[in-house]
Amino acid sequence: MAASSAYEAVIGLEVHTQLLTRSKIFCGCANAFGAPPNHHVCPVCMGMPGVLPVFNRRVLELTIRVGLTAHSQIAERSVFARKNYFYPDLPKGYQISQYERPLCVGGYIEVPGADGAPRKIRLTRIHIEEDAGKNIHRPEASLVDFNRSGAPLLEIVSEPDLHSAEEAAAYLRELRAMLRYLEVSDGNMEEGSFRCDANVSVRPRGASELGAKTEIKNLNSFKFVEKAINHEIARQTAVLQAGGKVEQQTHLWDAEREETRPMRSKEYAHDYRYFPEPDLPELQAPPGLVEAIRAQTPEVPSARRARYARDFGLSAYAIEVLTQEREVGDYFEALIKAGVHHKAAANWTMSEVLRAANASDQPLIRAIPAAAQTATLLKLVEQNRISLNGAKTAFAAMCKSGQDAAATVSALGLAQVSDEAAIAEACDLVLSTETDKVAEYRAGHEKLFGFFVGRVMKTTQGKANPKVVNEVLKRKLAP
Ligand code: ADP
Ligand code: MG
Ligand code: ZN
Repeated sequence: MAASSAYEAVIGLEVHTQLLTRSKIFCGCANAFGAPPNHHVCPVCMGMPGVLPVFNRRVLELTIRVGLTAHSQIAERSVFARKNYFYPDLPKGYQISQYERPLCVGGYIEVPGADGAPRKIRLTRIHIEEDAGKNIHRPEASLVDFNRSGAPLLEIVSEPDLHSAEEAAAYLRELRAMLRYLEVSDGNMEEGSFRCDANVSVRPRGASELGAKTEIKNLNSFKFVEKAINHEIARQTAVLQAGGKVEQQTHLWDAEREETRPMRSKEYAHDYRYFPEPDLPELQAPPGLVEAIRAQTPEVPSARRARYARDFGLSAYAIEVLTQEREVGDYFEALIKAGVHHKAAANWTMSEVLRAANASDQPLIRAIPAAAQTATLLKLVEQNRISLNGAKTAFAAMCKSGQDAAATVSALGLAQVSDEAAIAEACDLVLSTETDKVAEYRAGHEKLFGFFVGRVMKTTQGKANPKVVNEVLKRKLAP
């Protein structure tokens, strides 16, 4: 659903991501998904009167890690602010967030463009806040679960630099991959640890001012983000084409009807009556912390993509597949370190490793054999001691059994026979029982060659090295 070319879409995204800390942001309760309702709660995260928040330092460290990676400025001092609003899942009546002085300011994220060339999407800010609880609506009653209340959140706000649903999705994929590489968030959209609100406006192409925007809430999958943005672009374009005005509103994405619905007229910052949180001091990083984190920050997807292109000359597609998840690229590199050629390592990782990992509900490293074992298998292929198909069979078996490569190859009888004498014997046997066909072949019916190869392979139960079989047969069938 492309917008009419007379109009241009403008999109800015606000992403909320839960941080992988052990405890919540302002209390000692576990920050864990999946417990029975109201299991990880205390007076602080349930918003009882008179309690005081104590800031979890790990949140500061993880946020700085993200900010540095995103090229943001890390503020020496930042300030927590109260964002006041009423909702049953927020019993304090306010959310502790950051407003005028967030921890990270500016920066950008490099997103692969449609043509493969990276594009910089600027960030406005990254700030820290606490999550609210969760309302559960049942026909007989509405319930509140406070397990999520006080979970540490980052809000990552982009500048309005995106111009299509596909571009927005690419940005989100990149951001999510980055957060996972950094081990800052698991990025699990189904569990709500990576959520997105999309701000969308449309303006006449070439206009310098931004149009009125709508904010679409409740987007919890990449598919919905794309659908909702496309729907909203089409809707606003139609309004403008008909000479109407787009109203600044908050919309809710209705996944069942695949449309956006106005939820409320847009609230403004002053509606929240933000003010500095009196129960917490200014947030100030201890001396040396930023530099210490900078020194430890792991490689991110964009850097890894550039390195793979430079060192291995892989296709853009291969690079994309190998860098989406950190463990996949790590495994590919471990194969190379163990002596496998990078082309073979890439092919094997993209096919067999991902197939096995996807079929398993375990994390990749537990779903597949250690790289050293896989490397042993691939070297047997290189030395013609097993066939490529034999290696696939062995690999699948190793994923299940956890046995090593050599034991598996021998247990499954996959070793390939390359011994010329043994193969010559099998060839002789076949040729001596097929004298008519041999005569036909020698009379010029050369297509029969494949028939002989097939018979020899069958006689050797598929274990003969096909290359050697070909050579020996050629020799023996020569007139
Ligand atoms: P609000 O006060 O409504 O939350 P902000 O200025 O904080 O608005 O911007 C929130 C998000 O909306 C940011 O990602 C920003 O890039 C984006 N945004 C702002 N104005 C527009 C616009 N006219 N069209 C599209 N996105 C916009
Ligand atoms: Mg906002
Ligand atoms: Zn608590």
